[in-house]
Order: sequence, then C-alpha cells, then structure tokens
Amino acid sequence: MRRVHIGELAWPAYVEKVRQGVPVLIPVGSLEQHGPHMSMNPDVLLPTAISERVAQNIDGLVAPAIAYGYKSQQKSGGGNHMPGTTSLDGLTVTQTIRDVLKELARHGVRKTVLVNGHYENSAFIAEGVDLALRELRWDGIRDFSCIILSYWDFIDQASIDTIYQGDFPGWAVEHGGVLETSLMLHLHPDLVDMSQVRNHPPATFPPYDFFPIKPEWTPESGCLSSASRASAEHGKLILSVCVQGIGDALRTAFD
Ligand SMILES: [Zn+2]
Repeated sequence: MRRVHIGELAWPAYVEKVRQGVPVLIPVGSLEQHGPHMSMNPDVLLPTAISERVAQNIDGLVAPAIAYGYKSQQKSGGGNHMPGTTSLDGLTVTQTIRDVLKELARHGVRKTVLVNGHYENSAFIAEGVDLALRELRWDGIRDFSCIILSYWDFIDQASIDTIYQGDFPGWAVEHGGVLETSLMLHLHPDLVDMSQVRNHPPATFPPYDFFPIKPEWTPESGCLSSASRASAEHGKLILSVCVQGIGDALRTAFD
C-alpha cells in the first residue's frame, strides 16, 4: 500500500506528489461523547479511514485530521453539556480550516477535499473555505478548489434498506447509533463494547432549539438512537459504499 498520510512522508516525497497535482483529503472531526458503548473519537477515525481508502483509489494524499470540531448540538450530537465532549468556538473551526487550506495552497496543492465526520462542523467548514478562497484570490491564486462533503450523504437507499429494514430514524438522530457504531465495529472493534449499548427509541425534539439547553431532552445514554442493531457486517457495507461513492464523485468533480 502506498503511503497516503502527509505526516508520514518526508518533505521531498510530499513535494513530488504535490507537483503531480494530486488531491489532498482533510478529515474534519470532533472529540465528542458517543454513548457509553463507544470511544469519543469516531468523528475523527471514521472520516480518516474513508479518506485513506479514497486516497489509495484516486492517487491522493491525506492531511492530519482536525481532531476538534464545533460544539455538539443537542438535536444532532446530544449537546455540548455532555462529559468528555470538547469543542471549539465556530470562529476557531473556521480559522483553522482557512489556515490549513492556505498552507496547502502555499505548497502548490490545488485540489482539496474536506471530509466531514461531525455534522455540526458543516457551516464553519464552508466559511473557512470561503475565507481561504477569497484570500488566495487576493494573492492571485485562482485555480485552488475545494470539495466539502459529509461521508453519510453517500449512503444510498439500497444500503439504508438493507441495514435498517424500513426503520431508518434519519441521519439527524444517528448520533452514536447504528451508522457510526457499525463502522467502528468493522474498523476499530476494540473501541466498542456492545454490552454497554442502551436500548431506547430514537430521541424526539420540538421543531426549535432552546438555549440554555434542557439536558433532559437528551437520552441519558448520550446517543440519539440505539446502536443495538449495529454490526461489523453493516459497517463493512457502509464503508465500501462511501469509499466507492466519494471516489467516483471526486474523479468527476475534479475533471
Ligand atoms: Zn459522531
């Protein structure tokens, strides 16, 4: 297997790949509780694993993951009050994305992909990209491009039907649920303890957010739906669908 992680390359080998014009994938995650049954780093490990495989397939590179993300929101991540969840202000996420992109551009990278693993990051990634593109334009660099994606958007209906058997609760309440737990069981089984999964119905919320949050809205487990139906087999399917779909999308988008 070719080495794809930028951090594992010596600089001349890195510069050589950059000269070839290869895309650089940047996983963007968070440190966030994912229930009593799972480690707090799936939002980093999952986009990293997907990025590694996509980079192998499309001759790309992978930058070190951004390991912290925007504050966990109650209706998508359980809430930022939960123990262990360690988040950045939106401005910090935005400026981190902007700074990393501008550094890659300085090296000569022109195609970048932000592979998001934490829903709450989305708008701040977009803002970081916008600021980077604007500032690069001021420097006369107009051929720098960026794709922003969240890996779960590549899971097709056929896979959803296979995994959820008609009981799909929606991605919004998948936090710590079947999707992430299955992927972790396939990729990092040592970081999951299925005996600790709490069985509860998907969380329900009113159609608004309330601040300061009402902790009682979040299920006690910290998960927004139960992972009891998760399996390594589902994880393998999800991984292959995402790697295939993202690889195809990048080939088309960058051509
Ligand atoms: Zn997550």
